[in-house]
Amino acid sequence: MRILIDEIMLNQKIKINQNDALIIIDVQNDFCPNGALAVPNGDQIIEPINKTIPLFKHIILSQDWHPKDHKSFASNHKDKNPFQTLSMPYGEQILWPDHCIIGTSGAKFHPALNVNLAQCVIRKGYNREIDSYSTFFENDKISPTGLAGYLRENNIKRIFLVGLAFEYCVGFSAIDGAKLGFEVYLLMDAIGCFRNHDFNNMDNLLTKLNVVTTGTDKLFET
Ligand SMILES: [Zn+2]
Repeated sequence: MRILIDEIMLNQKIKINQNDALIIIDVQNDFCPNGALAVPNGDQIIEPINKTIPLFKHIILSQDWHPKDHKSFASNHKDKNPFQTLSMPYGEQILWPDHCIIGTSGAKFHPALNVNLAQCVIRKGYNREIDSYSTFFENDKISPTGLAGYLRENNIKRIFLVGLAFEYCVGFSAIDGAKLGFEVYLLMDAIGCFRNHDFNNMDNLLTKLNVVTTGTDKLFET
């Protein structure tokens, strides 16, 4: 079914209107090559993102933003290494290398990203006790970031997601966006992937929620 939907969507142009928002997720130095938690070729999505930005009236940035004693960092647990998991009160947590620490250059948006037209920046992951993959909720799935309210007050119906990375922050944002009732589109040429064991899991979850995958070249302005 996913293949069928994708084939249809790949040939379908999408007209962008005032009720659409572009959400640019975590395009930060630490997630790009040479960063602390680099997504392979993570910087190659910046050009298609920059080309897409002028099509939208509503542009939102999300920014991973952790205190250095954040509990998602392996360095804050005894005898734990990055990419091991740990059971937290809200569920299983992957332990990451230290990344996107508040105020550091790694937490800054990549310098090539055009951030000038964004009206809203959602920072997430600043609560030391809990991680936040999704731009809508922390990983307990109930603590909101405020993004849903922002979108609703601006009468947004469809959200177009780009950024880093598919398996975590982009994917979980898409899941929450769909569950909250937004129509969700993933612009795959502008989304970086780790291509790890979580890729297929995420793809399957998104298929069940009818999240649409398409590309930036299919969008046009009204
Ligand atoms: Zn993080």
